[in-house]
Amino acid sequence: MTKPSLEAQLALDAEHIWHPYSAMHSPTPVYHVDSASGVNLQLSSGESLIDGMSSWWCAIHGYNHPRLNRALEDQLGRMAHVMFGGLTHEPAIRLVEKLTRLTPAGLESVFISDSGSVAVEVAMKMAIQYWNAKGRREKQRFATLRNGYHGDTLGAMSVCDPVTGMHSLFNSVLAQQFFVERPLSGFDEPCSDADVRPLANLLEENHEQIAALILEPVVQGAGGMHFYSPGYLLRARQLCEQYQVLLIADEIATGFGRSGKLFACEHAPISPDIMCIGKALTGGYMSLAATLTTRDVSDSIDAGNPGVFMHGPTFMANPLACAVANASIELLLEYDWQQRVAHIERQLTRLLSPCRELPQVAGVRFLGAIAVVEMKQAVDMASITASFVDAGIWVRPFGKLVYLMPAYVISDEELTQLCHRLSSVVARLPG
Ligand SMILES: *Cc1c(COP(=O)(O)O)cnc(C)c1O
Repeated sequence: MTKPSLEAQLALDAEHIWHPYSAMHSPTPVYHVDSASGVNLQLSSGESLIDGMSSWWCAIHGYNHPRLNRALEDQLGRMAHVMFGGLTHEPAIRLVEKLTRLTPAGLESVFISDSGSVAVEVAMKMAIQYWNAKGRREKQRFATLRNGYHGDTLGAMSVCDPVTGMHSLFNSVLAQQFFVERPLSGFDEPCSDADVRPLANLLEENHEQIAALILEPVVQGAGGMHFYSPGYLLRARQLCEQYQVLLIADEIATGFGRSGKLFACEHAPISPDIMCIGKALTGGYMSLAATLTTRDVSDSIDAGNPGVFMHGPTFMANPLACAVANASIELLLEYDWQQRVAHIERQLTRLLSPCRELPQVAGVRFLGAIAVVEMKQAVDMASITASFVDAGIWVRPFGKLVYLMPAYVISDEELTQLCHRLSSVVARLPG
């Protein structure tokens, strides 16, 4: 069978395929990728783009990495998949051994799932089952921060920022949760009392109904790309203790070094009761996520009614995904990733700080291998994307936020080109 031409493929795409948060017949074009290697995306139309997105935080080692490819090929020769009900396998066991060793102390029980949103659903169900097992059936609601993002399924959506999450359409089906203002103290600042007060008041008044506080530690991702004081995490941890509320850390975006620590909870440091990971877990190769919790939580669920945890995805602990996750984590720990990320942070800061002076720009901020250029006005996605592609870079802004989270393997030369080209596109936007 012959492949349809590029034009025919794009016509089929436009006719039948939804892309993330887009219309079926979208005025925004999509770009057809032929292959990807290192930090380069090779478009079928011929252009080669330096990738600034790591495919939404995932591809930390770059694309088409020989070690990750080999891990998948080796596993493929044994089995691509087998159900996890009643069966187990080495890739999953090795992965869980690593995760329990590397994550904050006390997280010993692991539920493996297939995507970040599902890992969040699982975390929320764990919290509800925990309190149910303790005879506290009224603790079924959640507290969270404004500007948060936790995924697109109904439970996860209920704890996304109601404004920036654009979920108001679903208000009547979403569980009504408790929102507090996000902390304003910056990453390098101590946490102010004013930051903590809304959370303290909320928990004091409503803790009888609240199963857990869920938050993204230190870095709020898709809900606004804000960085906040690790001191806030410490205070939140203490308040959860005081009011008998579990703490769920959503590290799906921050996990595996992105913020400069292996997990962002380490900046405080705190240990949450439940932690979600995903995105970079497989180095961007396959969809895989996990929810980790303490023995206290898992033992209580075991002791409760019905005595089992009520979740079980069809593709739970897919062996291919677990095998590539093992290889990705081994690869990360083999080199001085912490120094790499610190170096990227210095480079991003040096190369993009001058954007602060542009009339179009409201502010810039940096943490670990993350750079955010916040514009004064929302950008026009189609035209700015076309300008980035013309400039030979792949950057996908949303709203007022133009941001980068490059692969840790990006070279100084590639990073310099990426930042210079980004700056020159931003400088040409209407002021
Ligand atoms: C991306 C993300 C999710 C959802 O993960 P999916 O794999 O897209 O379902 C949840 N929480 C955070 C913090 C994320 O960044």
